[in-house]
Amino acid sequence: MGGESSLTPGSGFSTRAVHAGQEPDPTTGAVVVPLYQTSTYAQEALGKHKGYEYGRTHNPTRFALERNLAALEGGRHGFCFASGLAATTTLLQTLSAGDHVVAGNNLYGGTYRLFDRVFKRFGLEFSFVSAQDPDQVERAFGPRTRMLFVETPTNPMMQLTDLAAVSERARRRNVCVVVDNTFMTPYLQRPLELGAQVVLHSVTKYLNGHSDMIGGALVTSDERLAEQLRFLQNAAGAVPGPMDCWLALRGTKTLAVRMQRHEENARTLARFLAAQPQVKAVLYPGLESHPQHELARRQASGFGGMISFIPGDGSLEAGRRVSGRFRLFARAESLGGVESLVCHPASMTHASVPREDRLSIGFADGLLRLSVGIEDVEDLRADVAQALQSV
Ligand SMILES: *Cc1c(COP(=O)(O)O)cnc(C)c1O
Repeated sequence: MGGESSLTPGSGFSTRAVHAGQEPDPTTGAVVVPLYQTSTYAQEALGKHKGYEYGRTHNPTRFALERNLAALEGGRHGFCFASGLAATTTLLQTLSAGDHVVAGNNLYGGTYRLFDRVFKRFGLEFSFVSAQDPDQVERAFGPRTRMLFVETPTNPMMQLTDLAAVSERARRRNVCVVVDNTFMTPYLQRPLELGAQVVLHSVTKYLNGHSDMIGGALVTSDERLAEQLRFLQNAAGAVPGPMDCWLALRGTKTLAVRMQRHEENARTLARFLAAQPQVKAVLYPGLESHPQHELARRQASGFGGMISFIPGDGSLEAGRRVSGRFRLFARAESLGGVESLVCHPASMTHASVPREDRLSIGFADGLLRLSVGIEDVEDLRADVAQALQSV
């Protein structure tokens, strides 16, 4: 029971995506894990039950997703939550007042807000550093540092962290390394294999992949931490509903084929954008011009489906004009669904980041971010080309 992975040794990623954690239903033989939409379970006699007592603690559909995600990340234990931020919240609840967290300085906006405006009030301390430089990360470690929290690549600047290098430095100091792997997914990057202790996901994005649910997950092989997380998942109660778990399980079955197509399309569009005179810069780890291209090749098996670019002179006006001209790309927050989206981070996902902070890392007012979907790439390229005509 629970979110322990039944790792089938030797089986490939796609096989695990389809099968891990999912046995035919013992009562009916149903091939698809049923949606156990129930809050409680009948007991045959006082205290005599089948291992399931109450829906917050036990749900077979959620357990199947937890086993599936653990197997995909190559970890022993998976835990699912009501959102990506609920997963982060529960993870930070393993810390105590006075503990210190070192975090990347270009995190998902909601993660930064949670650290800065919620957990600081509970006495946690945070240092935000440029996680591109392992030495700078190490210098931020102090006697009370318990956790390093990074995203790689970051959003929307596409900066990378060398996971093996920071994990080695963190291990010497007994610091727990957490990697938000939402952008890359385990199909392309598996942080636990590079030395991290915890992988975090917004399941909302690529893992579910169809823009129709909100969810989060944590995966770890650390037994002590897993014990704490199992306790907190139940004690704090930020659990997902069974329907959302069922949808996400359907999503992960096709993760490998979707990621292949997302990436193929993104590589084509990144090269196309880089060749356009109306584009000032393209940020995509798969381009040889990306300053950390070699690291991207080394620590991941691909470059993902997200592209940032700076149209025209980088002004707000240029960004507004181009983003308003797309026909196929919908203007929306979020990412990782089968449909292509365009986002203007400065006014949407990163509106709470001060302008000077943005500009200091090259995050121009007009920067646009594409979540490249799985449509026909010719149609996507034509849409990008006509949108660029506005600058
Ligand atoms: C969306 C996102 C989150 C937050 O996840 P929710 O499911 O929206 O709570 C965290 N990290 C990254 C990288 C994200 O893209």
